Amino acid sequence: MKNVVVLGCTGSIGTSTVQVAADLPDRIRLVGLAAGQNAERLFEQTRKFQPEAIAIQDPAKATMLQSALGSGARVHCGPEGLLRLATLPSADIVLIAIVGTAGLAPALAAIRAGKDIAVASKEILVMAGEIVMAEARRAGVRVLAVDSEHSAIFQCLDGRPPASVRKLWLTASGGPFRKTPQAEFSGITVADALKHPSWVMGRKITIDSATLFNKGLEMIEARWLFGLPMSQVDVVVHPQSVVHSMVEFVDGSILAQLSSPDMCLPIQYALTYPERVASSRVRTDFTRIGALTFEAPDPERFPALNLARRAGETGGTLPAVLNAANEMAVQGFCEGRLGFGEIAAAVARVMGEHDVVREPTLDQILEADAWARRAAGLG
Ligand code: NDP
Repeated sequence: MKNVVVLGCTGSIGTSTVQVAADLPDRIRLVGLAAGQNAERLFEQTRKFQPEAIAIQDPAKATMLQSALGSGARVHCGPEGLLRLATLPSADIVLIAIVGTAGLAPALAAIRAGKDIAVASKEILVMAGEIVMAEARRAGVRVLAVDSEHSAIFQCLDGRPPASVRKLWLTASGGPFRKTPQAEFSGITVADALKHPSWVMGRKITIDSATLFNKGLEMIEARWLFGLPMSQVDVVVHPQSVVHSMVEFVDGSILAQLSSPDMCLPIQYALTYPERVASSRVRTDFTRIGALTFEAPDPERFPALNLARRAGETGGTLPAVLNAANEMAVQGFCEGRLGFGEIAAAVARVMGEHDVVREPTLDQILEADAWARRAAGLG
């Protein structure tokens, strides 16, 4: 039995995690649940799973939840509430699925409290991968991947050392505009960008999948999770989203992990690792899938990959700047202040204006994040 805390329990990953816990009541006990704004869903989940403690951002909503729930669960609020949940004494593992950067401090707090962490929020490793992985090594805890691509790589590596790897191949669906000519990018609406061909996900990551910034962030995430330089991390477009990623070993052999796309699978693997636990949720029928195809990404139409590679290779505070500038640009696009084709240019401009701090402290990373949000000028 694993005692699990879920930060971001009301979102796309959070609700899939709750489904996995409902599938495996003998394996997974939800001891803590944290939401941002959605008090209604948090209330329903709390009634159903009876966690010890919950958290919500807004203090007024916390008071309302506490009176509705009685003494059943302790209700915390604000950033402090996330820290309380991340360090809950009974928790074995903390799954972080908060969109944006609010998951970083709780991730570090969980590690320092000796908890394993399961990371969906890629922002954490993009911003502070070196610090997070070093803290985890010091504390002797695991950093488990929830992202389907990184879960695939983790499963293929199966404990083999970085020296056995020639290349990590992240697969990308290519998003809804894989075949759209660049001339048509200016007419792309938010509704168009939210139509992902193979995954149903939160709003921010869906837009990032359309620009390929999601894959760029994943390249940096992979670099830290698996301890390899950016030059050994590459991307191939695979529209069917059945091969979740691949490891090419030094002898030329390639291992891949495949299944029909369903986030419940990597979530379950992270929460039950190192065991494989029976589940009938995911079935893959190759006769229905028919063909698996692969193509090179187009760096002209999707500059995000090269920007992310540059940020990952440069290191220091530049990945945090890329992440923050992209977050602001996506917000600008969603609010109609920026065209789809202008997102990458906005990120490139902010990256170009940044004075990179090498080997930054956590505070310097957070300063760079705040600076990039201001420099984007889109708030
Ligand atoms: P959603 O937008 O669907 O959900 C975001 C979650 O974060 C919600 O539960 C939201 O709460 C919560 N939240 C936001 N701000 C705060 C805060 N300050 N404190 C506490 N909770 C907060 O996003 P996704 O589930 O799609 O993505 C979550 C993370 O996982 C992202 O980093 C994404 O890149 C990553 N990821 C997602 C995948 C997917 O398939 N969706 C796949 C791989 C990675 P509320 O709704 O109550 O406001």
